[in-house]
Amino acid sequence: MSVIVPIQSEQQERVISATEAYIFQASAALEFSFELIPVVFNLKGKVAGMYKVKQAQRVIRYNPYIFAKYFIENLKTTVPHEVAHYVVDIIYGLRNTLPHGKEWRNVMAMFNVDSSVTCSFEMDGIPTKQYKRYSYFCSCRTYELTKIRHNRALKGVCYNCRKCKQILIAKND
Ligand SMILES: [Zn+2]
Ligand SMILES: [Zn+2]
Repeated sequence: MSVIVPIQSEQQERVISATEAYIFQASAALEFSFELIPVVFNLKGKVAGMYKVKQAQRVIRYNPYIFAKYFIENLKTTVPHEVAHYVVDIIYGLRNTLPHGKEWRNVMAMFNVDSSVTCSFEMDGIPTKQYKRYSYFCSCRTYELTKIRHNRALKGVCYNCRKCKQILIAKND
């Protein structure tokens, strides 16, 4: 296995510019002035990006290793994906919307990005049985996620169907 070198300042600048460009695009389209928010490159593991709110501080985190491996793809998908979470948070509040629900998909459509396949990692492992499950669905089947995964989904992590690769959407019940 070769070692992946995380993206450095030059490419990070491009990612930040792309992030800001989507924020400006949302501001123009929705006639609302979305503030620029901090963009950091400290995500690790299998998650390409994450929108996070902590103590009223909003931030977009990217994984510099995954961006290094698939730079253009992540520029085109992960960046609008995370900005769309931010836009939904400002307009509706994250608590009032489902992860990757219709509000988020509408923003992705506004960005002209296919919202069905925008995460660069897949679900690993089949959940075990002894805990409460949360139903999620894609276009081909349903998944029962653990509470841990469900809570991660609420925080902006997304999970994909292993078959159709679509992002899993929480079921309303
Ligand atoms: Zn997401
Ligand atoms: Zn599927």
